[in-house]
Amino acid sequence: MATFNNQQITVVKDNGLVSHVFAETTLRALAGAFVIGHTRYSTSGSANWTAAQPVYRSAGSSGFAIAHNGNLTNTAELADKAGIQVTSMLSDSDLVAELLARTVEDGHTLSEALAHVLSIAEGAFSMVILEAEAVHAVRDPFGFRPLCLGRLGSIDAPEGWVVASESPALDVIGAHFVREINPGEMVTITTEGVTSVQLLEPASDKQKLCIFEFVYFARPDTYLMGHQVHTTRRRMGELLAGQSHVDADIVMGVPDGGVPAAEGYAKASGIPFGYGLVKNRYIGRTFIAPDQNKRAASVRRKFNPLRENIEGQRLIVVDDSIVRGTTTRALVRMLRDAGASEVHLRISSPPFMWPCYFGIDTPSRDDLLAANNSIAEMNDFVGSDTLEFITLENLRSAIQLDGECCDACLTGKYPAPTPVALGASGGRW
Ligand code: SF4
Repeated sequence: MATFNNQQITVVKDNGLVSHVFAETTLRALAGAFVIGHTRYSTSGSANWTAAQPVYRSAGSSGFAIAHNGNLTNTAELADKAGIQVTSMLSDSDLVAELLARTVEDGHTLSEALAHVLSIAEGAFSMVILEAEAVHAVRDPFGFRPLCLGRLGSIDAPEGWVVASESPALDVIGAHFVREINPGEMVTITTEGVTSVQLLEPASDKQKLCIFEFVYFARPDTYLMGHQVHTTRRRMGELLAGQSHVDADIVMGVPDGGVPAAEGYAKASGIPFGYGLVKNRYIGRTFIAPDQNKRAASVRRKFNPLRENIEGQRLIVVDDSIVRGTTTRALVRMLRDAGASEVHLRISSPPFMWPCYFGIDTPSRDDLLAANNSIAEMNDFVGSDTLEFITLENLRSAIQLDGECCDACLTGKYPAPTPVALGASGGRW
């Protein structure tokens, strides 16, 4: 977190859970009416202290701090042009902070620096920036990652303003959702209230919100573009059930992402919904664990099967995605060891075939199971009896946003330039 207390900006950050990093005594030291904060996982494989945010620079009268959700795709080019050496310790967020600092030191305001630096940055960014007596929040011209504005107090007498990636962050502090921040828009919060400028031209007439926010990333109680994520996930399950019938005894979801889709699947198929796995809430997402060994071990620590629900049963198991396949394979084995007589896997996203360059940590194509295997081969690899993925058409109709989502990892059609050559079947819209 970074706060401004009428005199200076204070930054406190560390690796670990929020509740571990911010003890009561630490929070008491973080006084001030202007605050930003960020929880993140490393998108570059390293998880050291320097990768924690906000990033601070001392340029200008008070300095500034930045928190960045997303990933820039032209980091090397920007660094090269500015004569900044690219090292493994230099993140895209550090680079933005450095370019902003240089522009501020040349005599520009932070708002002017943001307009300049972000106009040459490519890729995904939803950012919050703290300076003396102001918080700015800006979204890239595609709107890859979500960002919304909320209000504390009533419309007539607002008591404060809030921006957040996901709308539930507003709910927990009693703030009211006002609206989403538009692609390319920057809002600035000061003691006077909120102002808005269209800092960057929107990239197209339709925004490109990450489709995986609906499938996997966003909390189910989040509202994105007017749709509650949980409802869209249930619809994914309903449509998936319509695609593929198989006789079974129970439908179960892989917690947490697969559960709403499993509910929808059960409703549409008439097969009872049940629980088959208990999740240890204190283990993070395996998909984003930084290396392969840690991922395999964390599957065993993360889930425990409910043997009495599983033994002798024909299961339909609904999960949100298959990336490398190692997590899924370990899960199927765990269910069989617990006595399942059949395991039919149903996945509420189409095959994940292309890497993401817009803020989601995915492996290279070589390690994406769907990029290198047919569905029959994937079924063999993970050890399920049958395997079926929702079609792209059904996923889009579950979300009900016509062409307003990026789905490049499913189609190879990247809406923005990517940092590496993609081969014959990749490309841009
Ligand atoms: S490539 Fe996939 S994961 Fe990345 S932003 Fe697009 S839809 Fe989301």
